[in-house]
Amino acid sequence: MATAQVGVVILGAGPAGLVLGNLLLERGIDCVILERRSRAAVEGRARAGFLAAHSVRVLTEHGLAAGLMARGKTHTTCLFRSDRGEFTLDYGKLGQGEAHTVYPQQELVRDLVAEYLRRGGEIRFGAEAAAVTEGTVRVRGGADVTGRYVAGCDGHRGTGRAALTARGVRTARRDHGVSWLAVLAAAPPSLEAVGYALHERGFAGHMARTATVTRYYLQCPRGTDPADWSEDRIWDELVTRMRAAEFGPLREGAVLEKTVVDLRSDVLAVPGAGRLWLAGDAAGLISPSAAKGANLAVLQAESLARALEAALAQDDRTGLARYAADCLPRVWRAHEFSHWMSGLLHGPVGADDEARYTRELQYARLESLRTSRAHQDFFAENYTGI
Ligand code: FAD
Repeated sequence: MATAQVGVVILGAGPAGLVLGNLLLERGIDCVILERRSRAAVEGRARAGFLAAHSVRVLTEHGLAAGLMARGKTHTTCLFRSDRGEFTLDYGKLGQGEAHTVYPQQELVRDLVAEYLRRGGEIRFGAEAAAVTEGTVRVRGGADVTGRYVAGCDGHRGTGRAALTARGVRTARRDHGVSWLAVLAAAPPSLEAVGYALHERGFAGHMARTATVTRYYLQCPRGTDPADWSEDRIWDELVTRMRAAEFGPLREGAVLEKTVVDLRSDVLAVPGAGRLWLAGDAAGLISPSAAKGANLAVLQAESLARALEAALAQDDRTGLARYAADCLPRVWRAHEFSHWMSGLLHGPVGADDEARYTRELQYARLESLRTSRAHQDFFAENYTGI
């Protein structure tokens, strides 16, 4: 049997694994990160962009925020459009008065990799975890790696999660029944703010990323093949659903990437047991409606780092037992809001009676959001909070 070599073996170099690795090194705990992709692939993978104030605080407190402070953009407003008009919510002045920092996930990952290596950490790129048994990770085509603990931060389809569910850990899950064509365009933002457009052809979203890159979303039927969406079709549909003729043109550009995301959510009943503990998408997937996934990954990584430090440095496992109790209520609060956002943004496509009924409910919710201070505060607190 292999002997323990490192304190923590971390699976996955996404936001969860890299924040955890940096925090463990900061606490003097040795760790190694196993990442199945290459460094270039990990650092080039565009996904999230919205960091909540809590995430920015955690990253700042632990010396991980230099890049986002220098290049991130503060957002305090978002805009809603429908055939009933348009309004902007200045959420920075509502609720807790908090903002988002817009900073592309791949840039954050690049910063976290660089800092982790600067702190003396080891990442093995191209090392895919094939199985986890107790503290030992079998690496496809390589030697086993053993740690006193294993942190599964390898995403929703990762080995860490599979090892835990194989032990009978239950999940609560929901398929929201909606998919998005997620488009990354080499185009400057068309709006000052994030834009959510309700349309009888389906939801469309506009998310600024940088001065030259914008993310757009188009609600699409389940099973959509991105190849069916040519550049022209994407822009035509965005122009229609964003009501550009009425509210102003979109700044178009080359489509850099188009993928289909099925909106699904799930949460594991317990995010770990024994020597295996999970964080980020591995512990639960949240639909991107409210941009919470990367933020939950940071929250859980911070909490897990504290618990692992106590377990390793003081032989105190109570923190690990508390890890679930600490995180789950906040995770569920994020899911509740994400589900609320999903209901606000998506209705049945078309104009039959049922579709019209649901759309009127959406309009009523939008109108309440436009006019009710109490509703606006609820939105702001949950939109920026984690
Ligand atoms: P991941 O980022 O998935 O990282 C897991 C890592 O593990 C990967 O690098 C993977 O290669 C590696 N890995 C997988 N299997 C193995 C294995 N067997 N062995 C070794 N390594 C392995 N969230 C937000 O907060 N705000 C947003 O604006 C937002 N927008 C989004 C937009 C889109 C289109 C999508 C798809 C997601 C978005 N999210 C957003 C969600 C966010 O990107 C994820 O929640 C976040 O990446 C989770 O981080 P993670 O570290 O848990 O997992």
